Amino acid sequence: MNIYEFHTAEDIIHLCRKHKLSIGEIAKRYEAERSGKSMPAVRNKMKQTRDVMYEAVKKGIHSTQKSKMGMVGGDAYKIYKALGNTADMMGNKVTVRAMAYAVAVGEQNACMGRIVAFPTAGGAGVVPGVLFSSAEHFKAGKRKLLNGMFCASAVGLIIAEGATLSAAKGGCQAEVGAGVAMAAAGLTEMRGGTPEQCFHSSAMALKSYLGLACDPLGGLVEVPCIKRNALGCMVAIGASDLSIAGVKSFIPFDEVVLAMKNIAKIMSPKLRETALGGLAVTKTGNMIKRKLGMKITPMDL
Ligand code: SF4
Repeated sequence: MNIYEFHTAEDIIHLCRKHKLSIGEIAKRYEAERSGKSMPAVRNKMKQTRDVMYEAVKKGIHSTQKSKMGMVGGDAYKIYKALGNTADMMGNKVTVRAMAYAVAVGEQNACMGRIVAFPTAGGAGVVPGVLFSSAEHFKAGKRKLLNGMFCASAVGLIIAEGATLSAAKGGCQAEVGAGVAMAAAGLTEMRGGTPEQCFHSSAMALKSYLGLACDPLGGLVEVPCIKRNALGCMVAIGASDLSIAGVKSFIPFDEVVLAMKNIAKIMSPKLRETALGGLAVTKTGNMIKRKLGMKITPMDL
C-alpha cells in the first residue's frame, strides 16, 4: 500500500493528521506515488488542467453563440455583464461571477468547445466556477488555487470509488452533485479550512443533491445541465460558508457517499441519462425530441 493511499474521507483525514498536510497536499503526493511521476510533474499536469478550464471560461463569458438545437448559449455573457451592476443582484460578486464561469464552461461544451470533464462533462462548470471566482476574490496565488483543485479531485476520487461519477448509473447526483461536493471542499481548503471542515462542506453539499434525476432534454448536455451547474456554485459556496462558520454535517461524508450509492441502485433507469423521464418528457422536452427525430415518450403520472 502506498504511503498516501486513501479510499475514504476517514482515510484522508487520518493521513492529513499524521503528516500535518492538507487534503490537497495528500492528493498531490498520492498522485505522484500512484503514477510514478515527480511532484513537479503532477503539479504541471494540474496546471495544464487549470489552463484548459480558464480557456473555456474566457471564451464562454464573451460568446453569444447558440448550441445547434438553440437551447443554450449566450447566458454566460449576460451573467458576466451583470457583474457590472451587482447592486441589481442579490448574490455578491463572487457568487454571480462563479455562475457566469460555470455557465461559460457548460456553453462551451454544448457548442463543441474544449473543456475539462472535472468530474464529468455535465458537471464540469461548478469547480472552475467556484474556485476561479473565489481565487479572484482572495487574490489567491496560483499555489492556493492548485491546492483547491487537488483537494476537489480527492473528493471526486472518493465519490468515484465509493459510489459513482456516472449519470447512467447514478443520475445527476453523480455529475452535478459530485461537482458541487468537490467545489465545496476545494473552496474550504483555499479558505484555510481544516480537512474536517472540507468534508463537512462536501457532505452538506452532496446531501442536497442525493437522488437528483438525470433528465436532459433530447439527451443533450444542455438543459437542465448548464443552469444546474450555475446554481450548484451557490450551494458549494453556501456549504463552505456553513462549515467555516462551524456548522457540521450530522452525517459524515463517507456515509453520504454510501447513501448516494444506495440511491443509485434503486433509482429508476428512466432517470439515469436515458431521456425517458423527468424534464426530458415534459411538453418542451418532447418537442426537442421531435425535432431530433427521437421517439416521443409520454410522461408516466
Ligand atoms: S442532467 Fe444528466 S446529463 Fe445533465 S448534468 Fe445532470 S447528469 Fe449530466
